[in-house]
Amino acid sequence: MEKLKRNTKAKQLIMSVLANSPSALCYDDFERRIPARMDKATVYRILQGFCDDGVVHKISGENGKTYYALCHHCSSERHNDSHLHFRCVRCATILCMDEPISISPLPSGYTMLEASCLVSGYCPDCLPLRDEKHLQPTKTTTT
Ligand SMILES: [Zn+2]
Ligand SMILES: [Zn+2]
Ligand SMILES: [Zn+2]
Repeated sequence: MEKLKRNTKAKQLIMSVLANSPSALCYDDFERRIPARMDKATVYRILQGFCDDGVVHKISGENGKTYYALCHHCSSERHNDSHLHFRCVRCATILCMDEPISISPLPSGYTMLEASCLVSGYCPDCLPLRDEKHLQPTKTTTT
C-alpha cells in the first residue's frame, strides 16, 4: 500500500514536470526539476508507463539521448506522433511541432506505422544570436 502511494506521488511529480515544460525533456532535465530524490530506474519505469498509456512519446535526439514529450492525440492502443521535432543547435531545446511528417509512398510491400524526423536549426529566440559565437555555454556540452 505504502509503495503504491509513493509511486502515485512520483507519477504526479513527473507528469507535472512534463506538463509545465514547453519542450521535450531528457532524464537529466527530470533530475534537475524534481525536488525529491528519485531512483533513476523509477523515473524510467514511470516514463515507460506513460508511453504505454499513450500520454507520452519518446524522441531520440541526435546525441543518442531519449527525450520525452506529452502526446496530444494518442491512446494506449495507438500512438499518433508522426510530427516533426525540432532541435535548436544553440540552446539544445527539442520541441514537438504540429506539422505532420510527409513521406512519399514506401515501396510496395512496406507498411508504415510511425515516422520520426528531427529537424535541427535555430529557434526564434536563438536566431538573432546565431552569429554570436556561443558566449554562454549551451546546455549540452559534450567533450
Ligand atoms: Zn503519442
Ligand atoms: Zn534556441
Ligand atoms: Zn512530439
